Amino acid sequence: MTFASGRHFLQIPGPTNVPDRILRAIDRPTIDHRGPDFARMTKRLLEEIKFLFKTEGPVVIFPGSGTGAWEAAMVNTLSPGDRVLMAETGQFAVLWSNLARRMGLEVDLIPGDWRRPADIDAIEAKLAEDRDHSIKAVAFTHNETSAGTTSDVAGVRRALDRTGHPALLMVDTISSLASIDYRHDEWQVDVCVGGSQKGLMLPPGLSFNAVSEKALAASRTASLPRAYWDWEATLAANRDGSFPYTPATNLLYGLDEALAMLREEGLDNVFARHARLAEATRAAVRAWGLEMQCVDPDGVSNTVTAVRVPEGFDADALRALILDRYDMSLGAGLGKVKGKVFRIGHLGSFNDLMLMGTLCGVEMGLAATGIGTRTSGVAAAMDMLTEPAQRMAAQ
Ligand SMILES: *Cc1c(COP(=O)(O)O)cnc(C)c1O
Repeated sequence: MTFASGRHFLQIPGPTNVPDRILRAIDRPTIDHRGPDFARMTKRLLEEIKFLFKTEGPVVIFPGSGTGAWEAAMVNTLSPGDRVLMAETGQFAVLWSNLARRMGLEVDLIPGDWRRPADIDAIEAKLAEDRDHSIKAVAFTHNETSAGTTSDVAGVRRALDRTGHPALLMVDTISSLASIDYRHDEWQVDVCVGGSQKGLMLPPGLSFNAVSEKALAASRTASLPRAYWDWEATLAANRDGSFPYTPATNLLYGLDEALAMLREEGLDNVFARHARLAEATRAAVRAWGLEMQCVDPDGVSNTVTAVRVPEGFDADALRALILDRYDMSLGAGLGKVKGKVFRIGHLGSFNDLMLMGTLCGVEMGLAATGIGTRTSGVAAAMDMLTEPAQRMAAQ
């Protein structure tokens, strides 16, 4: 192992770079999670976190990874054998659907080629066919991190409304929360699944469910077994600022700081920054002459860009070389696109020069592996980032 000087570039699409402000906030003594100081902080955090989801309703915070919040969404609202309609946008959709099956649910997974967002017409057709309302929930990923696609949550809401279908709407925002606009109440989502380690700029270890009135009502009759992930126990304890078991105290300090940072920047500015840096990333990919995994220009993600390597090349070898020579981690191709795709994470605590460094690392790696580039993606991205009109638009 050669000594790596300077900062490691962590450009996977989560966990993302944790800013120093948040690291400093976490680096404080752990306090009594049943004491008055902790209760005050919790009560405040539970109110303040709502703006992230654009909701007035409760947000349940779990010490756990995003997968736990997936499970929580289902076990709190559904009963054995209930039908769940899902859309195969990529590996995370597949993993969530596998989890649902293992919980004893009957999953109807609309097949997809992992190259475009959820097909709203297909969802609407399934809902329209389902006259006896056997589908109890529609669940999909807002941002499919494995494919670099973003689905239209409002569009799925409209499909439910047009068909007059009462199914619950569940959305995984783990890689879109605090980076791509998400409106829990306006879009009438029933359960939102979130995680700490992506747009929120925190280390892994917290996950979230934003919960609607309708989902809470469903939880009163749902009969899937639940213990650790039980909303009711958490919501009851939260009333006096506590949790039913030991919370991740220091991560909550970090969450407090992350929310402060997001408020200071302003959510709309956060979204605009992600959109602009994503656009520059896509300009680089086009200049390189490489193909994006996402083939739908309306469905490209503003937090992660998945890039296909040409036939005959191995994306994992490219990633290994970039890690070895330039100390930068890029996202791997997951599941069926392993070795075919590498992913550039451009979310969370991230700015113009971090993107330029990232793109330089990729471009040098492409040269070194012999994949090569048609023209300089770095130059194309730089052009875009220095264009005055673009700069004005982002302000
Ligand atoms: C990262 C991610 C997950 C998985 O979360 P874990 O914290 O690894 O359990 C789920 N869904 C999406 C869309 C993700 O990006």
